[in-house]
Amino acid sequence: MDWFPIFLALHGSSALVVGGGAVALRKTRQLLEAGCGVGVVAPRCEPEFQPWIEQRRVCWRALCFEPEMVIGHRLVIAATNDPDLNRLVAASAKRFGVLVNVVDDPALCDFIVPAVVDRSPLVVAVGTCGSAPILARQVRAQLEAMLPHALGRLADFMGQWRAQVRRNVSGREPRRHLWERVARGLVAEHLFAGRISDAHRLMARMVEGAGGDSEPPAGEVYIVGAGPGDPELLTLRALRLMQQCDVALYDRLVPEEILALVRRDADRIDVGKRGGERGWSQERIHQAMIRRARDGKRVLRLKGGDPLIFGRGGEEMEALAAAGVAYQVVPGITAASGCAAYAGIPLTHRDHAHSCVFVSGHDVETLEYDWQRLAAGGQTIVFYMGLGQIETICCTLRRHGLPDTTPAALIAHGTTRDQEILRGTIATLAEIAARRRPRPPALLIVGAVAALHERLRWFHCDRESAAEAPAAAMEAADFPQIAGGRSPGPPGWLTARME
Ligand code: SAH
Repeated sequence: MDWFPIFLALHGSSALVVGGGAVALRKTRQLLEAGCGVGVVAPRCEPEFQPWIEQRRVCWRALCFEPEMVIGHRLVIAATNDPDLNRLVAASAKRFGVLVNVVDDPALCDFIVPAVVDRSPLVVAVGTCGSAPILARQVRAQLEAMLPHALGRLADFMGQWRAQVRRNVSGREPRRHLWERVARGLVAEHLFAGRISDAHRLMARMVEGAGGDSEPPAGEVYIVGAGPGDPELLTLRALRLMQQCDVALYDRLVPEEILALVRRDADRIDVGKRGGERGWSQERIHQAMIRRARDGKRVLRLKGGDPLIFGRGGEEMEALAAAGVAYQVVPGITAASGCAAYAGIPLTHRDHAHSCVFVSGHDVETLEYDWQRLAAGGQTIVFYMGLGQIETICCTLRRHGLPDTTPAALIAHGTTRDQEILRGTIATLAEIAARRRPRPPALLIVGAVAALHERLRWFHCDRESAAEAPAAAMEAADFPQIAGGRSPGPPGWLTARME
């Protein structure tokens, strides 16, 4: 290691930045964030400096650089685009014993500014000894995704308890064990979930009983939405909890690629229907979660889409609350948002739909819907679980007065490489679906926005074959209104293939 990494306390100190352009601005901002006063020497500087100058956090001197200007500063940063001037700044800093950084010229630097992941007071600095700053930035981006934002809260919490732990827990080993349990266990989870006073209460108990293993079992249930299929649509929080659970109960809708991200040594329990078998009853799922959480397990309840939209997450929360089992809920991207986005269909649009309704298509024949309102127009209606009922749904909407020409789209396996989109109207789509037989899961979107698919589509998946192309073009031609006056034309990829 050629460079020695340190964190500098700069509160109450001052640094000199030579240059007033975009790079100087960025460096100045970083220095100010660290509580450092900044002197700027540059004939001109970017307008963004102005407020800092007015607040006297930056002292700007519209002069040419002179070597003596570095005297009295802790650091100097040369951020001009004049190599001779940068060299003069470096030589002056060395002469007067001030640490210097010359932007983009490691040979002239005493120190390098790393890429930083800021979870203050926890800070991760990444550097490549000046050889590949881009790489440092990429590593930083990966760390950003990996480290929970609430980690700073945990670091802060541990700082608050440090003195008390030192007083009350004797011996290096017992203290280390205690801190490890704090960082990995229920205290950290309380903090990440925003239950600050629970964290303090538990910590107090742990400090009192330290030495013995007094931490109560950290059983908890994580009700997590896995999104509609594309693993990249998982939230960071979902991923974190998936990687720390002891046991995972998952539904049929959760694809393999997402299950592969669950902690490797967690037990996996498939509670959904598969291959003709019936899935577990809701009651059995509740009991399984409750029993394992009471045994001290961290139970991941992984569901497709969002757990609280046609996902029975509400019933599960009720059962857990009644049993006094701790739980947290992580929202997921629901099928309507995911499928609509990947199909290029905006669910609301100022010209077409001012509201959007999510409807379960499962029990359309038995449930008493307000069909009059659903057929009122000017809105987007999304039917979940409607594939088997598509004909009933479309007929009922027409019977209640929704015009036959109302566009509709059926999206199967949305957001995945198997995504398939069938387009038509409420008068034609049921017949198209009967012919093409898409496989579930599929979502039905009814409303003028569905016709925007032909013009706004962007996601192209493996399923699309040249054979589908002419059909799609014909459907587009059926709806000239979608192009808003412009000729709809087939999308670019289609023209290319047709040629
Ligand atoms: N909680 C889930 C919905 C569960 S109900 C969510 O928020 O998305 C199951 C229905 O969701 C399916 O019948 C289908 O209508 C819809 N669905 C889920 N994933 C889908 C996908 N990838 N593509 C199309 N429809 C999907």
